[in-house]
Amino acid sequence: MKALVDRIRSFFTKDTASEGESAKLLIVLRILFTSIVVYSVISMIFCFCMGYPDAAFCFAGVIIIYVLMFCFSFHVRTLPLVIAVNAVSVICTVGGFKILGPNVSIQDFFIVIVVMVYFSGYGNYRIKGIYTVCVFVLYYILQSRSGSIFAAIPFSYNAQQVMEMLNILASFWCVAIICYVYSKDSQKLEGKLIEYNRILRQQASTDTLTGLHNRRSANEFIEKLIRRNDEKGFSVCMCDIDFFKKVNDSYGHDIGDKVLAGFAQALVDSVTEECLVSRWGGEEFLIVFPNMNGDEARSLLDTIRTKVKKIEFDTGSRKFSITVTYGLAEYGFNGDAESVVKEADEKLYIGKENGRDQIVF
Ligand code: GH3
Ligand code: MG
Ligand code: MG
Repeated sequence: MKALVDRIRSFFTKDTASEGESAKLLIVLRILFTSIVVYSVISMIFCFCMGYPDAAFCFAGVIIIYVLMFCFSFHVRTLPLVIAVNAVSVICTVGGFKILGPNVSIQDFFIVIVVMVYFSGYGNYRIKGIYTVCVFVLYYILQSRSGSIFAAIPFSYNAQQVMEMLNILASFWCVAIICYVYSKDSQKLEGKLIEYNRILRQQASTDTLTGLHNRRSANEFIEKLIRRNDEKGFSVCMCDIDFFKKVNDSYGHDIGDKVLAGFAQALVDSVTEECLVSRWGGEEFLIVFPNMNGDEARSLLDTIRTKVKKIEFDTGSRKFSITVTYGLAEYGFNGDAESVVKEADEKLYIGKENGRDQIVF
């Protein structure tokens, strides 16, 4: 079964790889030709069985035309084929309308023609627009005169109903096929694009070593809090690992990285969910405490400071711990993101000057 499906697929996709040609368009055209041939065969058999040999003869003509187009699709370039298909389809629809009459919905194929033109990659939209207007005018003229036009072949009421159903079914099928082939890949692509955008956004706001928010993300968060203007305001803490250079010098850069990641994790584990922990740069971290005044943030920082001092980092041959200095500032409802961070940074500097391993508020 799978082999059969593969063979049919390869038949439809054969010779569609020529440079500058739309493979998808060629495949769609071939499926449309096949669909119209199948529809015409069914209609021909029906007309013949119901005693309308003239109508059956017309459908035989349509079959020949579309089989020929299918064969041409392997030999001619796509653009002339598209033009030929459009011309032939318009002629066949108008001819079908004259022969079969206005009551069998043959005019619905105009919709297929317009949809196909929009999905085909050729021509600019001005040409497509003009073409649509022309098809619409033709459709309208035929439809508005339908009361005074009589079918060349006088179908019985029941035969008319069946023919109408076949035409509506065939035109719906053709529109569905065109939309399916063209939307299948674009929807997949759109899904990928959304996913890539999400990853890019995440990468742009994340520090790779620690997985924390980066400086940009922290700034955006503070700006958002300022805009939100919560009654309680917020606090900001700039903290910096003491004598971190010594860690690198004594145990190597890799251990230094592990210390940064370990400290980052300890911060994340210790703050509330509302808080934002970010790596400001190097061994400096910025914590934002929404809805917390300075005193509340300070008591949380006390716990953090004690906890961090107790963490033991293992080099393999020995264990060591670190201390950190914290500069804390409360948002005064009148500054911007830069000023509140600057104040926290100044407090941190004071803490460094005064012997490190402390919280300055
Ligand atoms: P202080 O107590 O005054 O802050 O002293 P310090 O040694 O911590 O500060 P200093 O600015 O002299 O040194 C910071 C060091 O942090 C220097 C730099 O090599 C190191 N560093 C910055 N980013 C990274 C990183 O991503 N990984 C590692 N391993 N080291 C880093
Ligand atoms: Mg430092
Ligand atoms: Mg520093």
